[in-house]
Amino acid sequence: MPSQPLFETVSIVGVGLIGGSLARAAKQKNLFGTVLGLGRGMSNLRRALELGVIDTIEDRIEDAAPRSDLVVLATPVCALPDLLARVARCRKPGSVVTDVGSVKGSLVAAAKTLFERPSSFVGGHPVAGTEHSGVEASFASLFEGRTCILTPTEDTDPAAVDAVRKLWESVGSRVVFMEPDRHDLVMGYVSHLPHMVAYGLVHTIQKAERDGSQLSAFSAGGFRDFTRIASSDPEMWRDICLLNREPILESLEAFQDSLREIAELIARGDGQGLAELFLQSRLTRAKILNLERREGNRNTPGLRRHDPED
Ligand code: NAP
Repeated sequence: MPSQPLFETVSIVGVGLIGGSLARAAKQKNLFGTVLGLGRGMSNLRRALELGVIDTIEDRIEDAAPRSDLVVLATPVCALPDLLARVARCRKPGSVVTDVGSVKGSLVAAAKTLFERPSSFVGGHPVAGTEHSGVEASFASLFEGRTCILTPTEDTDPAAVDAVRKLWESVGSRVVFMEPDRHDLVMGYVSHLPHMVAYGLVHTIQKAERDGSQLSAFSAGGFRDFTRIASSDPEMWRDICLLNREPILESLEAFQDSLREIAELIARGDGQGLAELFLQSRLTRAKILNLERREGNRNTPGLRRHDPED
């Protein structure tokens, strides 16, 4: 454990699942000195204070940022551009600013106009989470053995990148670097599409039940497993859809093609075609899970793994 915190005073804006978990992990490892908590409603912030996740509640970013060595923006993504602009205007000289949002392209583009070069803003996205929200759902081990994507550009100060990389590595994550637009496309397929499919599936069942039929009474483990992420926060996912529109539309189009392919095989009664497609999917899934397991083991042997965000 370092004797000196990595960041003496830290502002966390949005002390929810991700902001709260980062504060818990960083405090546990003595990476943060004093944590100032900011948010929207008072009840979540009061609970964060009671739980010891933050040390004080601050009303305005304009009061907290000038005293902070690190500002972490951890609200739903549509609130981030305005907060980033406000932080850019009042931040402490030499401080670092980062975020944890699930969409990077638009925010990194905004930072380009808001921060002088070399920019102390480092875009970040921990690929870790659960379907629960708020500080009550946060826990210190959330980021252990998970990947955190950082999206610095040629404008970003290497010292700021290094400090943010060190933070995420110290809470147990593997840091990878990605272009912001590439990040958004990748996440569009592997994270945002599965959430759309889960919400869409539950919506389909809901509509089918409008005639009074009790379909869901007969659902079992498969339905529960598949739709877990449809319990995720609607506001967060509304924002992700609004900001990552093109990649999500592209992945939804590709998914509809796959569904059409399956529907055609069923309509033709093509058993061999169906079995082949299902086998290929099964093999691909096994390959992905094996790869994830190997990455997890390499980072932190014997870790409890959590469901990804994702
Ligand atoms: P969360 O648990 O709902 O926490 C978000 C917090 O932000 C809430 O406490 C909320 O306050 C606060 N907030 C909302 N709007 C605000 C505003 N305009 N100004 C100040 N505070 C505001 O959400 P989360 O899951 O931690 O997600 C936070 C960010 O992390 C999002 O950008 C999301 O895309 C990203 N992310 C999420 C996951 C995941 O799996 N959940 C994973 C990786 C990244 P109230 O409690 O008062 O409403």
